[in-house]
Amino acid sequence: MDTMKAIRVDVCGAAEQMSVKEVPLPQPGAGEVRVKLKACGINLIDTYHRSGLYPLSLPTGLGCEGAGLVDALGEGVDDLNKGDRVGFAMAMGAYAEAIVLPRAALVKIPAGVSDEEAAAVLLKAMTVDYLFNDTCPLTGGETVLFHAAAGGVGLIACQWAKQKGVNLIGTASTQAKCDLAVSHGAEACLLSDDPELSDKLRAHATDGFPVVYDSVGRSTYRLSLGLLAPLGTFVSFGNASGPIDAVVPGELALSGSLYFTRPTLATHMARLGWMQASADRIFGLIEAGHLTVDVNQRYPLSDVVRAHNDLEGRRTTGSSVLIP
Ligand code: NDP
Repeated sequence: MDTMKAIRVDVCGAAEQMSVKEVPLPQPGAGEVRVKLKACGINLIDTYHRSGLYPLSLPTGLGCEGAGLVDALGEGVDDLNKGDRVGFAMAMGAYAEAIVLPRAALVKIPAGVSDEEAAAVLLKAMTVDYLFNDTCPLTGGETVLFHAAAGGVGLIACQWAKQKGVNLIGTASTQAKCDLAVSHGAEACLLSDDPELSDKLRAHATDGFPVVYDSVGRSTYRLSLGLLAPLGTFVSFGNASGPIDAVVPGELALSGSLYFTRPTLATHMARLGWMQASADRIFGLIEAGHLTVDVNQRYPLSDVVRAHNDLEGRRTTGSSVLIP
């Protein structure tokens, strides 16, 4: 039987729980496509799956984002050919040499975008797309706060905000990361461990921020809450420092009749036609020169433990990919 290399997790826990296994090459069923992966995007959500914060049934593969070449077609798939370049986001099992997915989960990659760029951008930029265009639609001119501005999602947010005419004020843990965020379009970026961070952020939005995009979670929740304008929206979309323990409705009232939302990309992917429309917007921005995909870390599949340790250890900027 044909086999492939894939990352497997038998028991949730630290990065060392991941190992490369030789597993059967998956075969596409009706309506499915097998993709030979050229690059697999690494996302912080993969560490939540690995650690058990977001529970999966075990044993499991990992990895939600990737791109490569169509190499086998299931019955009834007649709008793709072997060799076509395709990408995907929010699937499961991308840390592998190949993956089988429903046709509807794939988007074609245009000529102006490389496989590696597609693997590094789709999930992260679709996240920015719904955050800026759906969760709290930004029209330009707003000043918003965005934590972890030099990360994978962060550097895309900086560029998309600039393109929309939004003043994005970022936070990051080092001056080099802050400089990177500013060079990607952030209006300003402040050190997250600055003891005067709250005052310095408030100087950028004296009446408070209309929206705070907070993917850091536990360690930034209080700060973010205190910086919102009356009727502002707290967008909690990640747990880099751990999940928020509890949201107390009375605190939202006292802080100015705030709105609190905890969105996820999965909800938007389930909307009919949204994924393809979002991919079109993203590829359009790349091809127009408004969005650069920063693949700042590359690892062979066998180095997945180091890749997760680097991401969780805050040693990365922009996007990271595994090369199978
Ligand atoms: P990043 O590349 O942004 O890496 C995470 C960053 O979080 C780190 O680089 C670090 O930046 C910051 N951070 C702050 N505190 C901590 C901490 N205690 N431990 C580790 N990192 C910390 O990751 P991604 O681009 O993959 O994802 C960014 C965020 O967006 C994640 O929280 C992720 O879960 C979320 N997300 C949510 C989605 C949704 O639909 N809800 C979809 C996609 C992503 P620094 O060193 O500057 O502090």
